[in-house]
Amino acid sequence: MVRPRRRSAARLPTCRMLAVGDELILGRVVDTNSAWLAQWAGNRGLRVSGITAVGDGFDELVAALANACAQADLVVITGGLGPTEDDRTRHAVAAVMGVELVEDQQAWRTICRHFQRNNYGSPSPSNRRQALRPEGASLLPNDRGSAPGLWAKVGRCHVACLPGVPHEMEAMATRLGRRLAGTIRGLVKPTVKELWCVGLGESSAQERITGLLTEANPQVGITASDLGHLCLRVVGTPSEVGGRIRELRKRLREYLLPAPGLAASLILELGQRGETLAAAESCTGGQVVAQVTAVPGASTILNESLVTYHAHAKQRRLGVPAALIRRHGVVSQAVVEAMARGLKKTTDCHLAISTTGIAGPDGGSRECPVGTVWIAAAYGERVVSRECHIRGSRQRIQRWAAAQALAIGWQLVKASV
Ligand code: ATP
Ligand code: MG
Repeated sequence: MVRPRRRSAARLPTCRMLAVGDELILGRVVDTNSAWLAQWAGNRGLRVSGITAVGDGFDELVAALANACAQADLVVITGGLGPTEDDRTRHAVAAVMGVELVEDQQAWRTICRHFQRNNYGSPSPSNRRQALRPEGASLLPNDRGSAPGLWAKVGRCHVACLPGVPHEMEAMATRLGRRLAGTIRGLVKPTVKELWCVGLGESSAQERITGLLTEANPQVGITASDLGHLCLRVVGTPSEVGGRIRELRKRLREYLLPAPGLAASLILELGQRGETLAAAESCTGGQVVAQVTAVPGASTILNESLVTYHAHAKQRRLGVPAALIRRHGVVSQAVVEAMARGLKKTTDCHLAISTTGIAGPDGGSRECPVGTVWIAAAYGERVVSRECHIRGSRQRIQRWAAAQALAIGWQLVKASV
């Protein structure tokens, strides 16, 4: 029995994110930068004590930055480093530091080189704005875009300013992360391990692991992914994490996935068996196979896949008898199973997955309401099928149905050892 040990989480160095841009507070762009950075910080031993989105207005930005710096050991700002007048991050940092902005000649040369290398012509006068640096701050190189980042100090708080463009920000934060340990006092890179399970909900998982979801060393969190699995994340010192992972594995054994998510697990398992997967998708419109191809290595198990949207396509491509569709309706157990069998025959795959349903918002009926989805999987001689009733938008119904289809495929493959 592992005894949960409580240690104050407050002793970890803290980090706050400040996402800058009117587009964020107007809801036109979702702040994915802070979500990414929160994981970046947690993996490096920082406790995230808050995430704030703020508009481009100078006064709001200065107030939010001063407030964040008073409360954290590290503040990471994203956005507002561009060349336009509404990009005011540099100015706000200088104001909070109480220093002037100076033009950094090295930054200007780097900006000119960036334009030359990418055939953008000459930088415009407004790009000079991007070479401004608060006195006493240093530059963070950006090899993917024109805006260099900044590294500054406000009182005892370190401040990193990174561009808003996600791929530029991620590359720069990854580089910055390597030197954080030598800079922020008390920062110790923790051990981070994850486990993934499928086939049980959060509450039944909770019952099996009562007492193990501790707050600190190890910190254990559980998240339900919209890709159909649960993820348990364990953070702490190597020995505490190792012990907790062993205990969690023991209690969740029959539900564990070998890789991060269903698609990755199918790629691993079928790949080891030298087998292939194909899907015949109706209401999911290709999302089953999209979830598979999103994982590197998908080509080891995927040769081809079909979107058989119209009833005629189900007949022509999969050999589903027209009479079967007429008798049972296109959203039915008989049809989804015939789709999987037909697909297996026509593509010669080992695992065939099929979907047919009503993604909405229209097209539902009393007998077959929006969100009704039939899913089947065929493997070896076995065919299994399940009816799902999924609530929510068209997007959610399609995404969840695709995830459930992979879950059914996974369970069938695992049951056939
Ligand atoms: P640039 O050099 O491109 O001007 P910048 O640092 O000024 O960079 P912004 O202009 O604020 O960045 O944002 C550039 C783009 O990055 C925006 O169009 C937006 O789509 C994206 N972006 C900005 N902030 C975020 C965020 N917090 N989360 C996700 N995307 C973001
Ligand atoms: Mg902006």
